[in-house]
Amino acid sequence: MVYAVNDSNYGIPKSCPCGSQITVEISTKEADIGKKYFVCKDFKNDGLHRKKEWNEAIEDETRRLKEKVADNEGRLRSLGALEYQVDRIDKASQSNDVIIT
Ligand SMILES: [Zn+2]
Repeated sequence: MVYAVNDSNYGIPKSCPCGSQITVEISTKEADIGKKYFVCKDFKNDGLHRKKEWNEAIEDETRRLKEKVADNEGRLRSLGALEYQVDRIDKASQSNDVIIT
């Protein structure tokens, strides 16, 4: 359970551990006026609800998306190499040539 809470605390929160929706709140407190937060719509400061700075969440999310994009680019390159091999095998089988790898 701790792992699930920690993992879901990374990036833009999708929901609060209490089950409530996350909303965007803009602070009106003088100390951090205008600062944006992703916050549980039923937030109470008892440690059981989620409240995360908007900037931090966006940075985490961007980092995670960059990692996903890089991973998918690597997979696409692998698929391209496999596609090339399949084409070679297909052509070789059509002409009954021996494939040397
Ligand atoms: Zn909550």
